[in-house]
Amino acid sequence: MQKVRAKKSLGQHFLRDLGIAQRIAETINPTTSDVRFPVLEIGPGMGVLTQYLLKNPNIDLTAIELDRESVVYLKEWYPELRLIEGDFLKLDLNKLYPEGPFGVIGNYPYNISSQIFFKVLDYKDRIPVCSGMIQKEVAERIASKPGKKAYGILSVLLQAWYDIEYLFTVDENVFNPPPKVKSAVVRLRRNERTSLGCDEELFKRIVKASFNQRRKQLRNSLHEFLDKPGCKEELAEILTKRPEQLSVEEFINLTKRLQSWQN
Ligand code: SAH
Repeated sequence: MQKVRAKKSLGQHFLRDLGIAQRIAETINPTTSDVRFPVLEIGPGMGVLTQYLLKNPNIDLTAIELDRESVVYLKEWYPELRLIEGDFLKLDLNKLYPEGPFGVIGNYPYNISSQIFFKVLDYKDRIPVCSGMIQKEVAERIASKPGKKAYGILSVLLQAWYDIEYLFTVDENVFNPPPKVKSAVVRLRRNERTSLGCDEELFKRIVKASFNQRRKQLRNSLHEFLDKPGCKEELAEILTKRPEQLSVEEFINLTKRLQSWQN
C-alpha cells in the first residue's frame, strides 16, 4: 500500500526515526492496574507512534485523524485501532470519554499546537497527563519560568494547573518532509491544585491582557480592570511590573485583588 503524501495544510511531518517514536510513546506509561488507562492520540498519520502505543498493555488507545488518506492507511495497517476520522479541535471529549481520566499524546500537528493545549486546559480535571512532540519554540514557551523571553500566556495558564517537563529536543532531519524548525518532546502532569481561589475566567483575561502588551507595565495593559477609584493606588507597586516578572502565584494573587475591587 502506498504511503500517505504529506500535506502542508494539515501540518503533516511524518517521523521517520523509530527510536524517537518509541521514546515518545513511552512518555505515557501508566502503572499497571485492573483497568487500562484511556489514551487519545491526536494525528496518528501513518501510525509511527500508534504501533508502540497499541503494544502497551496498560493503555486503551483511541486515535483521531483529520486526513482521509491517513485514515485509509491506518485502517489497512492497524485494523485493531479504534480510530475517529475528524478534527480534534471539534471533538466533544465528554462524549468520547463520559467519565474518568484520560491521557493525550501525539506528534502533534504544529499548526494547531497552541490550540491543542488550550483545549487540554478546558478539560484539565479529566486529563492528568498530556505529552508529545511540538515545535521547540512552543515547548520552550510552555515550560518557561518567569523572567525569560519565552514566558507568556501559555506558560502561565498551563503551569497554573500542570507541572511541565521539557524532555528532549528533536532534530528536523528525522521527519519527512523536515519541518523548518526544531522540535521538542514535553510532558504535562496535572499538579495538586484544585482551585485558583479566584474567578478562572478573570484569571485568563488578566493573563492574556497582560501579555498582549508584554513590554508595557501592567498599569497600562490592565487599565480596563483598574477603573474603580483607589484601585490603581492600592496596587501601585505590582502595577509598575511587566508581565514576564510575575510568577503564576503572583498572577493568581493579582486576580484575587482585582476581583475584590470589581465586586
Ligand atoms: N503522528 C504522525 C503524524 C504527525 S503530523 C507522525 O509522527 O508521523 C500531524 C498529524 O496530525 C497528521 O497526520 C495530520 O493529518 C494530523 N492532523 C492535522 N490536523 C488535525 C486535527 N485538527 N485533528 C486531528 N488530526 C490532525
